[in-house]
Amino acid sequence: MTTAPELAPAAALPFPLVERLLSHAVAGGAPAVEVYAPATGHKIAELPQSSVADIDTAFAAARRAQREWARVPVRERVAVLRRFHDLVLAEQDAILDIVQTETGKSRVHAFDEVADVAVNARYCAAAAERLLAVRRPRGVLPVLTRVEVRHRPKGVVAVISPWNYPLALAASDALPALAAGNAVVSRPDNQTALTALWAIDAAERAGLPKGLWQAVLGRGSAIGGEVIARADFVDYTGSSATGRTIARQAGERLIGYSLELGGKNPMLVLDDADVRAAAKIAVRACFASAGQLCESIERIYVHDSVYERFVGEFVNNTRQLTLGSALDYSYQIGSLTFARQIDTVAAHVDDAVAKGATVLAGGRARPDLGPYFYEPTILEGVRPGMTVYREETFGPVVSVYRVHGDDEAVERANDTAYGLNASVWGRDRARARAVAARIAAGSVNVNEGFIAAWGSAAAPSGGLGISGGGRRHGPEGLRKYIDTQTIAVQRALPIAPLPGMSEAVWAKTLTLYFGVMKALRQQ
Ligand code: NAD
Repeated sequence: MTTAPELAPAAALPFPLVERLLSHAVAGGAPAVEVYAPATGHKIAELPQSSVADIDTAFAAARRAQREWARVPVRERVAVLRRFHDLVLAEQDAILDIVQTETGKSRVHAFDEVADVAVNARYCAAAAERLLAVRRPRGVLPVLTRVEVRHRPKGVVAVISPWNYPLALAASDALPALAAGNAVVSRPDNQTALTALWAIDAAERAGLPKGLWQAVLGRGSAIGGEVIARADFVDYTGSSATGRTIARQAGERLIGYSLELGGKNPMLVLDDADVRAAAKIAVRACFASAGQLCESIERIYVHDSVYERFVGEFVNNTRQLTLGSALDYSYQIGSLTFARQIDTVAAHVDDAVAKGATVLAGGRARPDLGPYFYEPTILEGVRPGMTVYREETFGPVVSVYRVHGDDEAVERANDTAYGLNASVWGRDRARARAVAARIAAGSVNVNEGFIAAWGSAAAPSGGLGISGGGRRHGPEGLRKYIDTQTIAVQRALPIAPLPGMSEAVWAKTLTLYFGVMKALRQQ
């Protein structure tokens, strides 16, 4: 299951392109690693790795570039983002090839990343000026105290991004950081480094000053600590276990951090749901990028009265999915990305089956298609004690459960340490929204799986519980990259007793003033 098949030269990326992209990495001081295309086993690149000296160089250059960039008006900064938006869409075929080659995912799921970057670039470009404008809140003494709140970029932001959504997760954190006046040092996963380097290449062609967005290359466990040791803020996307390490390292340095970690995301199909629509979208929500998506659905709670219909349609839709690898839209589901991913998937399914669960669809690896293909799998009869009941699979495996009412559905949905994403289906939208509000998750989609909330770039996205902390997207996803600075100017009179006034009279005057302000409901 994990051995590479015959090499397929057609899967290779053009050598000059790889060379050009690698020129954006500050790397070479440590021994290179070989990277292979998951879908075909073909070698993609000898990837240079960064030494500590390389990381020093990247941060020093980023700091130099950032000092200039912070002085560039926001209006000019976001013009770069607008051009980047256009470039990503115009050159989508090139980046889709790279994403597919590095991850093994299907083109339709790679395109989700292009779309994600476009909506985030558009949002940041449109919102940054307003979000970074100087605010003038009321001073302690109206008129006499003039207050302004300014925004200072953090400095150099480290973006440590994983391999599953390599374009979206590298670029969509970098864009708001850059708009806010920061430099960025990316540490993409080795498996998907070329995708991140393409984003840097495109950003520079869109007008981003050279040096402002740097990349260093290396395994997280090898260089993650060195990156965090030099950063002013760190964004991390990956597992909850590694998230704890990142938080410890950032906490030690008292720098801010934002973590987006795993999920064991539930879908609730209420008794009045449009079952056909739910069963159609569930396929996308569960199996996008072969389930290697933090937001993807792994548990579905279906009301007894619609259970048979929903499950029948969902199983039918799932069985019709086409699996394969091609650099076009001819297949719906691609490969998993690593041997360890397919091993986890197989272990979760085999454990469940051995303990009495039933496979309704899929349930087997497809080495005939490539080393890491696994069929989209639906399990029924999953119970506590089976690994898949509680643990995130991060693969194409979902369990369906029968429930008898909204309360039971909500209770079971919330029976998890995670809290990233959820989905609720019901024709009565007010009722479905009320159910959604009771689910402990950072985003809940009503009559959608994950794209409604995730794609709404003006709204924050992030997790509760062990799914992380901090937010990306929306005002929160940009303001995390700035520190506020309050400048208060006292005019005419000091905040002290007037000449000849005793401290006791001053205290009485203030007491009176506070009472009036409260009565007037002033801030
Ligand atoms: P992982 O946490 O081991 O690796 C994720 C990324 O973190 C990799 O790029 C890795 O190089 C990096 N990393 C690892 N240790 C690091 C360290 N000490 N410092 C800095 N970076 C470090 O996860 P994995 O095994 O590759 O993926 C499987 C699990 O990760 C899944 O269970 C899933 O929950 C989670 N995951 C989540 C997302 C997401 O989008 N939220 C993405 C990828 C993985």
